[in-house]
Amino acid sequence: GFKMGIVGLPNVGKSTLFNALTKTAAAQAANFPFCTIEPNVGEVNVPDARLDTLAEIAGSKSIIPARMTFVDIAGLVKGASKGEGLGNQFLANIRETDAIAHVLRCFEDGDVTHVEGRVNPVEDAEVIETELMLADLESVEKRRQGLVRKLKGNDKEAAQQDRLLAAAQAMLEEGKPARLVEVDAEDAKAWKNLQLLTSKKILYVCNVDEGSAATGNAHSDAVAAMAAEQGAGAVVISAQIEEEISKLEDDEAEMFLEEMGLAEAGLDRLIRAGYNLLHLETYFTVGPKEARAWTIREGTGAPQAAGVIHGDFEKGFIRAETIAYADFVANGGEQGAKEAGKMRAEGKAYVVKDGDVLHFLFNK
Ligand code: GDP
Repeated sequence: GFKMGIVGLPNVGKSTLFNALTKTAAAQAANFPFCTIEPNVGEVNVPDARLDTLAEIAGSKSIIPARMTFVDIAGLVKGASKGEGLGNQFLANIRETDAIAHVLRCFEDGDVTHVEGRVNPVEDAEVIETELMLADLESVEKRRQGLVRKLKGNDKEAAQQDRLLAAAQAMLEEGKPARLVEVDAEDAKAWKNLQLLTSKKILYVCNVDEGSAATGNAHSDAVAAMAAEQGAGAVVISAQIEEEISKLEDDEAEMFLEEMGLAEAGLDRLIRAGYNLLHLETYFTVGPKEARAWTIREGTGAPQAAGVIHGDFEKGFIRAETIAYADFVANGGEQGAKEAGKMRAEGKAYVVKDGDVLHFLFNK
């Protein structure tokens, strides 16, 4: 599955957001820096109204949404890359994530201590980015030293790694994040395997006061401008409102949202923003037993998409009976779509499209 690491300075609202996301009180919120000590892992359903529609048409007994994992990672402070605060554990946990949800404090509240003593989300973002760049620089240097012997032995893989590490190093030494390195398609996998912290995509989560949840405020506007410049994502959320919503029943939540002038729960927007950022898509498997959503990266071939369900599906892949979502709905389900000639038999070369309803045939 796909994993997002929630990072941010202490006391910006990470735990509150994580609680809301996972609807648990497990990640304890407290007005106290370093409250979050263990990384907390939570899985959330990816909201997708199409799945409910499909299930209704097919009369599916159960509905299984796609899942996304969030990891609440202990607060980072200035100097963390030097081992202050909770630095090292933080760094280890964040390496394993696909993207970073960077929570920024965009609310004023004299009762909640700000570790830097002022509310300035753009500078907060820089504090964290700097720590991550320093940590990357240190790890890049170490890894290059570790490669010296292999390089002498003309190890091809080592040469590729060293070339990519050198590119990262040059960028970091300029004071810029590794994600600005332009990587060729044939290096993409090796680059990802380097797991550099500043090569991960960033989604800025502006935690605003309740009154600004629908509109944003000057702080979140500044973050949005920064995000646009960096090609990062940004969403405005009030973690406190989201936490309240997470305790409500669905219809109550809807009324509450309406009262607040919000079209949709911020968490749904957050998850969707994560999908967009990571270029993720959804395909469906639909039957009388269950309707289920599966997550793939944009551009995934049919056999690899089948492999998300089970490795055997990929290995023995024969073809995928494919119905586009709109055709499935317009023709009242699989049978109707079939009769209307809307079911396609797609082979190994087929690139799955968002919303495809798939049925895989494979050799056992
Ligand atoms: P973390 O250290 O980043 O995990 O921050 P927490 O989620 O523990 O929040 C720190 C404190 O800020 C808690 O007392 C929260 O109740 C409070 N807090 C979180 N979000 C908001 C918000 O949007 N507005 C206000 N006023 N307080 C908030």
